[in-house]
Amino acid sequence: MTIELPLQAPSPAGLIWRVTRNEDARSEADREEILAAPGFGQHFTDHMVDLCWSDKGGWHRPRVSPYGPIELDPAAAVLHYSQEIFEGLKAYRHADGSVWTFRPDRNAARLQRSARRLALPELPTELFIESLKQLVAVDSSWVPSNPEESLYFRPFMFAKEAFLGVRAAKKVAYYLIASPAGAYFPGGVQPVNIWLSRDYARAGHGGTGAAKTGGNYASSLLPQEEAYKKGCQQVLFLDGDYIEELGGMNLVLVTRDNKLITPASDSILEGITLASILQLAKDRGLEVEQRKLSIQEWRDGAASGDIVGAFACGTAAVVVPIGSLKADDFEIVHSGPASTELAMSLRDELTDIQYGRREDTRGWLVRLDG
Ligand SMILES: *Cc1c(COP(=O)(O)O)cnc(C)c1O
Repeated sequence: MTIELPLQAPSPAGLIWRVTRNEDARSEADREEILAAPGFGQHFTDHMVDLCWSDKGGWHRPRVSPYGPIELDPAAAVLHYSQEIFEGLKAYRHADGSVWTFRPDRNAARLQRSARRLALPELPTELFIESLKQLVAVDSSWVPSNPEESLYFRPFMFAKEAFLGVRAAKKVAYYLIASPAGAYFPGGVQPVNIWLSRDYARAGHGGTGAAKTGGNYASSLLPQEEAYKKGCQQVLFLDGDYIEELGGMNLVLVTRDNKLITPASDSILEGITLASILQLAKDRGLEVEQRKLSIQEWRDGAASGDIVGAFACGTAAVVVPIGSLKADDFEIVHSGPASTELAMSLRDELTDIQYGRREDTRGWLVRLDG
């Protein structure tokens, strides 16, 4: 039995949202138990959002429904040709209980760029942000209030047309699900070890490296396994001699005089955390370089003391100092306070803004509730 609650206000795109409450929503006690130790990506809220797209009707039928399995035709194109894209962003609860998200217009724009590359339809920014608000309207109690915890949003879009011919699908679905996320480093931020992948690349020129698409992740899983075997948590991918990024995080080097250097490449995913961290650094008067960066430059810089540290950044972990880069034939080690100081202070500044502990002077936060 479900209750249909048509919302009064049409969305900015003129669509009327249909909201079906989950009659089997978890009890407050069950939810509190989950929120006591949420982990990452293991538990999901009681509802989800979806919209349909067809080449004839455009975006239509926006709805909020009980969280549950998706029925898909076995011939759905996504299952065969991976026509899929996704996003990742978070909701943060501020001290007064209000719920905010960070630069969602950037995620919306990136989803549109990914869509163009994967021949999927572009979801308008207003609909993207409205989908976040609609989900928070029914599931706001799932936004944790502990420090460093958040509700992780996973918007995704895929080809659902049942057709085995190879062409862009004419029927597509957009979904939004959400998962409470605990502190990424429950015992405090720890430097990670990175494995340098020489045998495998994650992307190539003209490929899909700059799109947030499942296929890039699928191709990173085998090298990731290799990294675990070498005692590393993440993989660094190269384009020939040049540094690209980790499987799901961007990379930044820190010089002795507090300059940040990050690779420029058309096969890197443009991280919103990276862009924000670079902006914070510039606003502190620090120098930022985005340019081609070879692995040899990192090795030489670390050896001479010109490069004092490195960090990875992305929405899930925010900023993670890199303790070492391991390869078959060499190792770079960054240790001591100087190797993590700048990374950690930029991390603190960013999370202070996200959690409302520091004024948001750049208009980065968007309120999702109320
Ligand atoms: C999502 C992602 C990032 C980080 O982007 P953010 O917007 O900072 O979360 C970096 N690299 C890859 C490959 C990604 O998929």
